[in-house]
Amino acid sequence: MTEVSRRGFLRAAAAAAALGHHAARAADPPKSSGGRPSGPTVIASANGLPATAKAAELIAQGVAPVDAVVAGVAIVEADPTDHSVGLGGLPNERGVVELDASVMDGPTHNSGAVAGLQRIRHPAQVALRVLRRTDHAILVGAGALEFARAHGFEEENLLTDEARRIWLKWKESHSDRDDWIPPVDAPDAGAVRRDSGSVLHTYGTINCDALDARGNLGGVTSTSGLSYKLPGRVGDSPIIGAGLYVDNEVGAAGSTGRGEAVIKNCASFATVEQMRAGKSPTDACLAALGRIVAHVKDARLRRADGRPNFDVKMYALAKDGRFGAASIWSGARFAVYSNGHNRLEDAGYLFDRPEDMKG
Ligand code: ASP
Repeated sequence: MTEVSRRGFLRAAAAAAALGHHAARAADPPKSSGGRPSGPTVIASANGLPATAKAAELIAQGVAPVDAVVAGVAIVEADPTDHSVGLGGLPNERGVVELDASVMDGPTHNSGAVAGLQRIRHPAQVALRVLRRTDHAILVGAGALEFARAHGFEEENLLTDEARRIWLKWKESHSDRDDWIPPVDAPDAGAVRRDSGSVLHTYGTINCDALDARGNLGGVTSTSGLSYKLPGRVGDSPIIGAGLYVDNEVGAAGSTGRGEAVIKNCASFATVEQMRAGKSPTDACLAALGRIVAHVKDARLRRADGRPNFDVKMYALAKDGRFGAASIWSGARFAVYSNGHNRLEDAGYLFDRPEDMKG
């Protein structure tokens, strides 16, 4: 780290400390004789409760963490009511669903990813195939689809009728300078909110990270990305170091929320490095978020009080079984399987969410 960037980081950390950030209580899982939890520990974004349960079940049967988390998120990818992932994911501005995903395997330090993948329900499984069956790290667009086809993945229309209606509502209401006009009696399609001044869009993703009793880690992040994005836009989820990072000696981390901010701050890598330097998982997440906040320079991304007008959530799992998560704004939860229990826990945060950012 250069002296300048080190000072910048210290300023961000000091700012976060001065703001009195809130850390969720430290997790304290039961330990095996090796000092690690005696069973699986799995964490995920709040939409990942079915994924943490499934991954834990598979790890208990001896399945490797990376395979287990990919199987876990498959449940959410196949759920048409989750509009942030896989089938039923919200589309790009042209109404086309484009999916991003990455996987990382702790023991081999290998990764695989796909970006802008269309028509395949389980992008995380294709990313795992990239890891296992190619010498590459990321495949995009038409090449990713060709690869998925070659491996027998089934193609389908991922745009459910409900997701199409939500997209159409956006299309009809996002601009008063085009020819798309909503019906006068249009019901509120929901799931859209004004969060950056002039653009209506939604965030959502699943990140899931797991640790087995031998101390091996694996992680996955899968998403339909920012809704109504420009065609071809790639978020943080398929970028190793941004939306996911695993170091088998230290821990795993992943993110959801505004991918552009995560990419520009290598936030999952930063979170793992903070754990390596001795921070607890929650404090490591808060430190990475503090750096993101310190780097928000554009007025269009800042509220009147100077704070970001977007949110990012970080999730972290340490090799010793401690885990945590944090968001820029309060109110986030995350899924945890540990000590035989699957549940949601409160995440730490930097700032109290103001009224105008609720709902
Ligand atoms: N991080 C995802 C992206 O920017 C979206 C999200 O998590 O809401 O593509």
